[in-house]
Amino acid sequence: ATVPQLLEPGQRTKPGDLAIVLLARDNYEPLILEQSTGAVDGYAEGATLNTRFGSFPHSTLLDIPWGSQVRASAVDTGSRGRKRRRDDSGDDASTPALEDTEGTATPTSAPAKKAVTASSGFIHILRPSPELWTYSLPHRTQVVYTPDYSYILNRIRARPGTRIIEAGAGSGSFTHASVRAVYNGAPKSDDDRKGKVFSFEFNESRFRKMEEEVESHSLKDFVSIKHRDVYNEGFLVDGKSPMASAVFLDLPAPWKAIRHLSRRRPQDMEQDSNDGSEWVSPLDPRKTAMICTFSPCIEQVIQTVSDLRKSGWVEVDMVEVSNKRLVSQRDRIGSYLPKEKGANPNPADVTEALSKLREVNQKTKEFTRIKANRGEEGQNDQMDVDGSNSEREPNANNKLDESSTEKVWMQGRLIHRAESELKSHTSYLVFATLPPEWSEEDEAAAFAKWPCGN
Ligand code: SAM
Repeated sequence: ATVPQLLEPGQRTKPGDLAIVLLARDNYEPLILEQSTGAVDGYAEGATLNTRFGSFPHSTLLDIPWGSQVRASAVDTGSRGRKRRRDDSGDDASTPALEDTEGTATPTSAPAKKAVTASSGFIHILRPSPELWTYSLPHRTQVVYTPDYSYILNRIRARPGTRIIEAGAGSGSFTHASVRAVYNGAPKSDDDRKGKVFSFEFNESRFRKMEEEVESHSLKDFVSIKHRDVYNEGFLVDGKSPMASAVFLDLPAPWKAIRHLSRRRPQDMEQDSNDGSEWVSPLDPRKTAMICTFSPCIEQVIQTVSDLRKSGWVEVDMVEVSNKRLVSQRDRIGSYLPKEKGANPNPADVTEALSKLREVNQKTKEFTRIKANRGEEGQNDQMDVDGSNSEREPNANNKLDESSTEKVWMQGRLIHRAESELKSHTSYLVFATLPPEWSEEDEAAAFAKWPCGN
């Protein structure tokens, strides 16, 4: 089986890899790298990524170390491209191409565009990870973000070898995080009990999209995705138990699915089907099972907790992940002057604070003027990637107080504040445990092992 970069990262890019293109700060686009086999979509160079920062033939993105910065190329749109453009849009090829002002990458199948900033812009090619996938994935639903899924995966004890049930698959954010957590090598056969994700999605178009992504990210051997209403049809795969020991339900009514997740045929199901067939649980009978359900309102939590108890789940508890990022920085107003010059460490003196503010404004203007003279503008303003951004360069005019004996970074009061906009989707997480099946024989065998048992 092909092992994807997501699970066993290599050092260099290769055709077929999923890459995450970093266009600018917080602007990521996923891209499947293609081997060029001739002109594509009018580009003589073959498959080409078009962005606001220029055009990047895939040939320039292949066989390079992950994390590389790549400069835009001056691409040749070729005669085939000109013909296509005339055919597609009815426009003459000499019409200037529209600039993509959003900064988003356009798919290679889009009509050919002229490179707008040929050989001036750059991108970074990042190795895919579940975290970057969560940032860049095409949203089809609300998704589970990294702060939540890292906590959930820890609590449901997802580790290499775990077989995990997930419903609904939605946009696949949790799927990608969980497959990395449970991966312990490629399975050798269908019956091989390696770590695997068993994912279920009711909505047909989301299911199809997930199928495509699982295929194009080379995850087919590690993720099984089924089109299923799990409330009515449960979690068996082709009639067989996935033998799972971890479950994550991100569904509007998780309690409707819980009856399928018990050790024995639930009473209500006995009434539904009196055909006498054997009840097959999707859970591994020899292992403790852990579950997490994700619900935005407390009424859903109450119903879920009740149905978990009825199905034999114990140690039920609820958690809300309230993530905050704390930013620590120095507040320079107040102790701006060095101590030996008699600075007031508390900004009680408004005159001093105002005069310092004026000084800082003056220096900012000077700094901007020098920067403009040097012609430093454009992408470097947005992205401080290679250390060449002038904001980082020492500038004599921009030092706060040259006569200070204190280091600049030591000046001012240390303050911190919470940033509230960290992406996470506030929901209540209900956790519970289902002990393994325990028979008279198990008890006798366990008892026999005790020193006093015989
Ligand atoms: N956890 C996903 C992620 O991280 O991308 C997002 C899940 S989304 C909030 C909920 C999904 O559950 C939707 O895609 C919806 O179609 C699916 N769903 C709702 N009812 C379902 C059912 N009875 N069986 C299977 N899937 C269902």
